[in-house]
Amino acid sequence: MVRPGGQRRPDARAGVRTQRLGAALRSTQQSVGDQHARRQRRDGDRVPGDPGKYRWRQLQEHHRAVDRDGLSGGRDGAQRASGRQGAATGGAECGQGVDQLPVQGQGGAAAPHLGHGNAALMAPCDADVAVIGAGPAGAAVALLLARAGHRVLLAERDTGPRLAVGESVGPGIRVALERLGVFDAFLADGHLESLGNMSAWGTPEAAGRDFLFSPYGNGWHLERGRFDATLRRQAQLCGAMLHGATRLEQLARAAGGWRLRLAGPDGPLDWHTRFVVDATGRRATVARRCGSARRPLDHLVGVVTYHGAGNKVQCRTLIEAERDGWWYSAPLPEARLVLAYMTDAGRHTRRALAGPPRPDSAPLTHARLVQHGGQAEAAAAIVPAYSACLAQAAGAGWLAVGDAAASVDPLSSQGIVSALEQGLAAAGALAAALGGDASAMPAYADRISSMYADYLVQRAHYYRREQRWPDSDFWRQRWVNA
Ligand SMILES: Cc1cc2nc3c(=O)[nH]c(=O)nc-3n(C[C@H](O)[C@H](O)[C@H](O)COP(=O)(O)OP(=O)(O)OC[C@H]3O[C@@H](n4cnc5c(N)ncnc54)[C@H](O)[C@@H]3O)c2cc1C
Repeated sequence: MVRPGGQRRPDARAGVRTQRLGAALRSTQQSVGDQHARRQRRDGDRVPGDPGKYRWRQLQEHHRAVDRDGLSGGRDGAQRASGRQGAATGGAECGQGVDQLPVQGQGGAAAPHLGHGNAALMAPCDADVAVIGAGPAGAAVALLLARAGHRVLLAERDTGPRLAVGESVGPGIRVALERLGVFDAFLADGHLESLGNMSAWGTPEAAGRDFLFSPYGNGWHLERGRFDATLRRQAQLCGAMLHGATRLEQLARAAGGWRLRLAGPDGPLDWHTRFVVDATGRRATVARRCGSARRPLDHLVGVVTYHGAGNKVQCRTLIEAERDGWWYSAPLPEARLVLAYMTDAGRHTRRALAGPPRPDSAPLTHARLVQHGGQAEAAAAIVPAYSACLAQAAGAGWLAVGDAAASVDPLSSQGIVSALEQGLAAAGALAAALGGDASAMPAYADRISSMYADYLVQRAHYYRREQRWPDSDFWRQRWVNA
C-alpha cells in the first residue's frame, strides 16, 4: 500500500504469509536460476544475466531488425522472431545456429514456420510456452523461461508504446529487477528517483513516509513506456520470440498442449505450445476462455491526465482523500506530472467526464498542479482500477500472471512489483511443470490466492483509516466490502 500516514502493516498473520511468499519466491528464483547455472556449466563461460555469447550475433541481428521495423516487425519481423523454427528446419532466418540452444522440456520437433497465406495448410510452430501479453508480468515470465533455455513465444497486441498507467514504485522493485537481471538496464533508462510518499488521509494535513531508511534506497517515478519496452527487449535478448501487433484469436486444446491462432500484422500465425500464460492484464483473456471468472470487488476507475513539462515539484507521490474518492499525483521524468482522480464508475465519473479533472476539493493536489503549471497533454483517460482476482489463477496447461491473475487498488502502488514477483513465481512453476512436476501449477494458484487474501487485509486497513465522510457511499462501501 502507499500507506497513507506512513503506518506499517496491520496484521501479523499477513506478515507471516508474506514471509512465506518471500521464501517461496526465493526458492522459485533459485530453481530457475539453478537451471540457468546448470546450462552455463554445461555450455561454457557465460556471464549471469547475459543472453549467452554463442547466440549473441544472431540476437544482435534480430534486434537490429526489431529496431528497424519497430515492435510490429511486419512479415519479416514475425519470421525472424520465430527464427528457431526456421533454424531447426534449415531455414536461413535470424535463428541460424540458435537450434544449438539446449532446450528444456519437451517442445517436440519444430515445424516449418510458414506464417502467412492459407492457414489451413500451415503446420504450426512449436514453443514450450506461449505468453500472451507483454506488460511487466508477461515480459518477466518470458525472460526467465527463455533464459532457462525454454522456447518461449511472447505475443503483444500493441504495436509500440501504449498508454500504460502506473508510474510510482517503491524501493522494493530493486529486488525483483535484480532477480530478473535487468537492474542495470533499468537504471540506464533515466527514471526519476522518488524520495517517498505524502498523504492527506484521515486528516487534511499531509503526512510523509520517507524512503530514506529503506535498505533498497529510493523509489522511482517511471517513464512507463520506456520501462515496459526495456523489459520486452530484455526478454528478447534472453531469446524470447516477441511478436508485436499480434493478438490471440483462437485457443484450443491439442495433443500435448494447445493450438493457438494468433492474428498478426501479416495474417494468421498458428502455434503449438505445451503451456499458455495469460499476461493480458485486467482483460484476463486466456483465463476467461479457460473458464476462470474474475471477481471484481468494487467499481474503482481512475480519471487520468498527463501534464507536459512544467516547474519542478517535490519528488514524492501525493495522495489526498476527498468525499467521493481520492487523488494522486506524481512527478515524472522530463518534468511531466501525472494526475489521477480515483472514484467509483457511475455518477462521479460523469462529473469527471464533463472536463479535465479539477482537484477543487483537494487543496494540496490543487496547489501542486498550480505549482507545476504544465498543460494537460490530452483529454482525460478513464481506466478501470478495481480490485479483482481470478477464481483460479492456474489450470491444466495454463496460468495467469500479473493483473490478469489479481489486480490491486492503485492505492497500494504494488501493481508493477506484484506483476514482476508473480512473473518470478510463474516462471518457477512453469519450469517445474515442464519438467513433469504436477503439483507446481496448483501450488502457484494457491500462492496467488494467498497473496490476494493478504492484500485484502491491507486494503481494508487503509480505507478504514479515512473516516471523515461517514455518509459517503464511496467510503462506506469500502469499509463494508473489506
Ligand atoms: C489508475 C492506475 C494507477 C496505477 N498506478 C500504479 C502505481 O503507481 N504503481 C504500480 O506499481 N502500479 C500501478 N498501477 C497498476 C499497474 O499499472 C498494473 O498492475 C501493471 O501494469 C500490471 O502489469 P501486467 O503486465 O499484469 O498487465 P499490463 O501492464 O496491463 O499488460 C498487459 C499487456 O497485455 C497486452 N494484451 C492484452 N490483451 C492481449 C491479447 N489478447 N493478445 C496480446 N496481447 C494482449 C496489453 O496490450 C498489455 O501490453 C495502476 C493502475 C491504474 C489503473
